[in-house]
Amino acid sequence: MEAEIITIGDELLIGQTIDTNSAYFGQQLGAIGISISRKTAVSDKEAAILGALTEAFSRVELVIMTGGLGPTKDDITKKTLCQYYGCGYRRDEDVLNHLEGLFASRGRLMLETNRVQADVPALCETLHNAVGTAPGMWFDTNGKVLVSLPGVPGEVYHLTEERVVPRLKSKFPLPTVEHRTLVTLQKAESLLSRQLESFEASLPAHLSLAYLPSFNQVKLRLSQVSPSSASTKDIDTYFQQLQEVIQEDVFCLGDIDPALFLSNYLIKNNITFTTAESCTGGWVAHRLMQAPGISAVYPGSLVAYANEVKQTELGIDDRVLAEFGAVSEPCALAMAEGALKKFQVDLAIATTGIAGPGGGTKEKPVGLVYIAVATKHEQFCKPFRLFGHREQIIQRSSNAALWMVKQVLKMPPDSVV
Ligand code: ATP
Ligand code: MG
Repeated sequence: MEAEIITIGDELLIGQTIDTNSAYFGQQLGAIGISISRKTAVSDKEAAILGALTEAFSRVELVIMTGGLGPTKDDITKKTLCQYYGCGYRRDEDVLNHLEGLFASRGRLMLETNRVQADVPALCETLHNAVGTAPGMWFDTNGKVLVSLPGVPGEVYHLTEERVVPRLKSKFPLPTVEHRTLVTLQKAESLLSRQLESFEASLPAHLSLAYLPSFNQVKLRLSQVSPSSASTKDIDTYFQQLQEVIQEDVFCLGDIDPALFLSNYLIKNNITFTTAESCTGGWVAHRLMQAPGISAVYPGSLVAYANEVKQTELGIDDRVLAEFGAVSEPCALAMAEGALKKFQVDLAIATTGIAGPGGGTKEKPVGLVYIAVATKHEQFCKPFRLFGHREQIIQRSSNAALWMVKQVLKMPPDSVV
């Protein structure tokens, strides 16, 4: 089944507010087997809203609308919907009670403009908004359903999960959708797809594989859409096969940030670590410290950008810098070893490279990044040739660092959830 989204609000069109509601609808509806075939953003103007609605209903039977339900003058969605459905207003007693309770509990005076929020198009059913003032609205005429929700993201999440999704499930015969996701690092999407050619060709019609690439990371998502009556377990068999084909490239299983996965692994295995970062400026540490409980294994990090800091804080030998330069394998290794000693940990990660846009040479171009990992017993270093602008190189370097740690620790992809 397909649906369309209409987002309403001048602020979305002038770029003042990023439309996150649509992405959220895509995820929530996708999870119950409704795919979004189009989204339209319109201004707070009657003609624009009417036009978008008429067009959307000429293509699909379900439209989700968000925004413009507030009490202010610029919010004209309700008025426009009365016009679209050729109906007047009715005062919804449940909504009025809710509003009175809300204002009383907050000790605020209720004005007529607030009371007006209980006036809704006569043709709709209201969806109780427990976290805000504007109710959601559900219109069901001639087999076509319109859901109109406020714009505030928190209210959208509440209404969607508590009211809209359950209603959609009982209204429409929807398929069961299941996903299995894994994350790969350091392998180009094109190479993965070549490797997976025959696997993809073998997939039955109700299974599909999606590639979701970002910064030297590719998430592979296997999806199964089964009719509401059937529930096969094919997806697990094929997911297993998928892992077997690209075995070495699987960083972790699940739809998870690989940094969070690695942090959880370090916590679970009580492996203390630190980072000594030059070109990534602390980004590797930032990504790794997001896991709750990380303090058990993470004392802190050093951002060693200038050569003097590398020397004074990490004890890098003058001769290393003079002979090989800061962007070099010997320097990366010395940084990792220096950090290992300084912080007295089990593992240290070091990064040094040229993030650009300036500073590149023929021998050491922009995007050349050395990453070293040191443990008490071994040290490894590897040069990476990364591309993109500065921010992308930093992000890619951090993913390369995660990948290096996985190799050194021989971390299995499914050791932590
Ligand atoms: P309110 O009762 O707050 O007036 P409303 O239904 O009128 O709610 P809007 O006024 O359109 O909604 O927007 C309320 C807030 O939600 C604003 O801060 C707006 O920027 C934000 N918002 C609106 N639409 C979206 C969207 N599609 N994605 C993310 N935020 C949004
Ligand atoms: Mg608005």
